[in-house]
Amino acid sequence: MAATAQQPDVIILGAGAAGLMCAITAGRRGKRVLVLDHANKIGKKILMSGGGRCNFTNLNSTPANFLSANPHFCKSALARYTPWDFTGMVLEHEIAYHEKAAGQLFCDESSKDILAMLVAECEKVGVTIRSHCNIRSLEHSGEFVLHTSDGVHRAEAVVVATGGLSIPKMGATGFGYQLARQFGLNVLPTRAGLVPFTLPEKDLVEWSPLSGIAVDVTASVPGATFAEPMLFTHRGLSGPSMLQISSFWQLGESVSVELIANAGEWLQDQQRQHPKRSLQNTLATVLPKRVAETLARVALPEGISGEQAINTLNTAQCSALAERLQQMEWQPHGTEGYRTAEVTLGGVDTDELSSKTMQANKQPGLFFVGEVMDVTGHLGGHNFQWAWASGYAAGQAV
Ligand SMILES: Cc1cc2nc3c(=O)[nH]c(=O)nc-3n(C[C@H](O)[C@H](O)[C@H](O)COP(=O)(O)OP(=O)(O)OC[C@H]3O[C@@H](n4cnc5c(N)ncnc54)[C@H](O)[C@@H]3O)c2cc1C
Repeated sequence: MAATAQQPDVIILGAGAAGLMCAITAGRRGKRVLVLDHANKIGKKILMSGGGRCNFTNLNSTPANFLSANPHFCKSALARYTPWDFTGMVLEHEIAYHEKAAGQLFCDESSKDILAMLVAECEKVGVTIRSHCNIRSLEHSGEFVLHTSDGVHRAEAVVVATGGLSIPKMGATGFGYQLARQFGLNVLPTRAGLVPFTLPEKDLVEWSPLSGIAVDVTASVPGATFAEPMLFTHRGLSGPSMLQISSFWQLGESVSVELIANAGEWLQDQQRQHPKRSLQNTLATVLPKRVAETLARVALPEGISGEQAINTLNTAQCSALAERLQQMEWQPHGTEGYRTAEVTLGGVDTDELSSKTMQANKQPGLFFVGEVMDVTGHLGGHNFQWAWASGYAAGQAV
């Protein structure tokens, strides 16, 4: 798109989900909007999201689905731009979608449809978008002055929508944090969230051969429990339940996994119904066969063998086994980090921003939207919902 000759009213740094939504909203209000992005292509994370089908929102999104030092901060923006508002735009553009797990909306075809919709909405209201633009510096003296690889731009308002640190290969940078600090705003420590766990070598020897196998589990770390599938990988543990708890996990903590719910009752039932069946074969009736084999080989309580008939388990052994099946513990030695993380926890301290407008309290005209700030959603479309809602809130105010 060609640049407008006139000075823009607002410059948005970052043409991702939050930046584009902010541009559309401000453009609809008649603002002249310029969006700058350093990447060769805009909206890369939208394109790669949801396995290429973009889980663009979650109909059940509430403030309880977000982590933030101030859990109240996200409430106002989420209430003013709901999952139904975004879904309305998707319907208008006749993009086919489906609900996968409860509330999670995915495109039937491709994430490209969502990006194309956002670009079309930008075009409708005359937003100028430039990729390949390196931002060298931002200063404020009466107005904002931005030095970039394609010249100097000036505007009354600047929106920082440069996202978090996850997937540097896709253009992620810490530039938003740098700008926040430059203008005197506090930035909370960041770390990778919604990210697979890595296991120590001694565990990998046993469990990594199961790489690619998924099991329905309930996984917990202190402060969080999620009932979703877990996936064994060649580096450790992944799948929705592990990604979810990774955002709450602290180094040194174990993750606890319930492989079989109400395992005590289940064992008693099995003893009554199939007393002669071996423990390993019994486990294989509710777990993938190879998981049952590994469990029987390396993780049974002392004195119990996978080969023994289940009617030979005494009461004490039954309760030890039930406890193990309800609380398998792994102690990750880390996570895969920003290389594969879906999000970045922490970021620009929300105490520095207005929850109504996303404007910095210390620097009128400077706004932060999306993942760059300390608001991080659970897995399942909540992160995009925050990008849309915060982008909309700032777009109404610039
Ligand atoms: C693999 C993967 C899958 C995901 N799937 C989903 C999903 O299905 N549903 C969901 O809700 N969330 C998903 N997420 C999370 C979601 O993509 C992000 O939370 C969301 O994109 C954040 O939007 P944003 O606009 O704040 O940042 P981003 O989308 O990251 O956009 C930031 C933009 O700023 C640009 N930028 C960065 N630094 C600079 C700089 N220095 N100068 C200029 N431009 C810069 C980047 O190039 C980028 O275009 C996924 C994330 C990943 C990594």
